[in-house]
Amino acid sequence: MLFRSLGRTGVKLSVLGFGTKYLPENVENDKRWVSIDNAIKAMHRSFELGINHVDTAYTYNNGLSETATSQALKSWPGKIHIGAKIPTHLIKKRGDYRRYLEEQLTRLKVACIDFYYFDNVNYQSFLSIDKRANWVREAEKAKDEGLIKHISLSFNSPAEEMKLFTDMRLFSVISCGYNLLNFDYNIAIEYAAKKGIGIITTEPLAGGKIVQLPAKIRTELNSSTRNNTELGLRFVIANPSITATLSSMKTVEMVEENIFYVSDSTPLAAEELKNINLYMSKLHDIAKKICTNCGDCLPCPQEVNIPYIFQLYIYYQVYGLKDYAQKKYSSLETDPLVSGKNALSCFHCGLCIQKCPHQVEIADQLKEFHKTLSPYYRASN
Ligand code: SF4
Ligand code: SF4
Repeated sequence: MLFRSLGRTGVKLSVLGFGTKYLPENVENDKRWVSIDNAIKAMHRSFELGINHVDTAYTYNNGLSETATSQALKSWPGKIHIGAKIPTHLIKKRGDYRRYLEEQLTRLKVACIDFYYFDNVNYQSFLSIDKRANWVREAEKAKDEGLIKHISLSFNSPAEEMKLFTDMRLFSVISCGYNLLNFDYNIAIEYAAKKGIGIITTEPLAGGKIVQLPAKIRTELNSSTRNNTELGLRFVIANPSITATLSSMKTVEMVEENIFYVSDSTPLAAEELKNINLYMSKLHDIAKKICTNCGDCLPCPQEVNIPYIFQLYIYYQVYGLKDYAQKKYSSLETDPLVSGKNALSCFHCGLCIQKCPHQVEIADQLKEFHKTLSPYYRASN
């Protein structure tokens, strides 16, 4: 296992961390439920192989991720660093920050959380929540009292806002998404890392999409890596600004495979990395011309999830993730993790087009995307 320093925290983290956003599930007669036992097995195997940090959140799996984490850590007391995210949507007034922190400490059965993240905020909402709930002061107080080691931020706003957050000089650690399909935060991460902030990224395999990238893309990338999993993981850790990346690993086999690939201490060759960056940036630019995923077109009176459908089309058309995109589109109205309706609900009111900064002909496009993304469309129409 490789270890790297986490900014100026003095902590050394394994380059791979254990994420608990997606826990293993048992399935029987179309019913699914989280398997805490299997989650613990996977976590324990990861600790045995050198992983020294686990990341969880109040909301992940309705609290079961924190429960699984606390049970897994019972036999590894004090050896594993914990990251946890506050449920921002529940922070309404003074005292709430402390209340949820204490609840999470209790659920995790620890006296202190190493990286306690402000979550799900942009710069403006962070400031306005602070106005009503005084959460910055609460975080500093909790840190002084030893309940939090490092005040941290989980970031998913436009890249330029990371500079604003960095310049607040409040955070020791910033966590954000970063992978082969989405490296928008490249420059922002570099800026934050240079200021001494530790960077932990998430979704190194883009929720499994990278594993499914077609052979055509691998050929274009001319990569020396053995498969897409290795490509995705080693691409992320090749970025020197990144200390570690968190992968949600559901099985012991997944843990062993991921650790095997990140343990290769030979970095990707500079020429190979340059080629990967160039090619993926080209695809990225094509994707941005279709839709920037800004979300300005929402809300739609028919609740059509416009940005999501555009992203699925991009995965299909630009990245060749055809099966993935079609499966996700078919389950759009039944997947509990995704809100909104599919393109069939659009009644061409035109409201979204007026709001789109790129003047995308949304309604016409949705009609076309529906044909592409519905696997049975041609057969049934
Ligand atoms: S045109 Fe369609 S997608 Fe756009 S706002 Fe109207 S109903 Fe929604
Ligand atoms: S406003 Fe336009 S660019 Fe932004 S998400 Fe909607 S369709 Fe995409």
